[in-house]
Amino acid sequence: MELLHHIKIYFGNMYEAVTTISVGMWITFKTALFERKVTIQYPSHDILRGKPEDMSIPAHGNLNPPFEVLLGASQQQYKGPLNPQLAERYRGLLGYDESICIGCLLCAQNCPIDVIRVKGVKIEGRKGKAPTTFRIDYSKCMFCGFCVEVCPTSAIFFTRQFEGATFDYRTLIREYISPRLSLERMQLAEEAKNKAEKEKMKKEKEDKGEE
Ligand code: SF4
Ligand code: SF4
Repeated sequence: MELLHHIKIYFGNMYEAVTTISVGMWITFKTALFERKVTIQYPSHDILRGKPEDMSIPAHGNLNPPFEVLLGASQQQYKGPLNPQLAERYRGLLGYDESICIGCLLCAQNCPIDVIRVKGVKIEGRKGKAPTTFRIDYSKCMFCGFCVEVCPTSAIFFTRQFEGATFDYRTLIREYISPRLSLERMQLAEEAKNKAEKEKMKKEKEDKGEE
């Protein structure tokens, strides 16, 4: 009885080995022969915004027999530019809108690895502080999203841009506020501060005069 059990296990294992190898080989064979291969000329081809009808990929009708037949129903479809295919919540490179930034520093304070540097000054006609420095070091960012979550105005956000390769890592440090704008804002802030101090002194003098 026990011998019979061992024989059963022996042939069962053989059967399993043959079927799994056959399935694996069939998938390899099918992919190699029946699925259409797509070569994209990257990076000259813009995979984010490229045309849906990609000219670098031969149209189905232009292929000669017998490949036309072989590449029938199971052909791999190139879906065109990637941008519309990426999910809304996709975490690409960070984007920044300085016009709605209030210089609150929350993004920088919540970044676990000091990717963001922010400085701001108080100027007239601007809610919160106007940023004089906003720097993102893309070489360090790990796309955790803490900065995006804490930003009260959505001034910092994820884009769907994922191409960040460069030969010079220094180009990955981006200054969003130009030196000229930064200087202008600092001068405006200084003027506003002087004006406020003069008004305060004037008011103090008036108060003393009344006494
Ligand atoms: S996504 Fe994370 S690592 Fe990148 S800047 Fe924001 S908080 Fe820092
Ligand atoms: S958290 Fe938002 S509003 Fe505050 S400094 Fe950062 S980007 Fe600007």
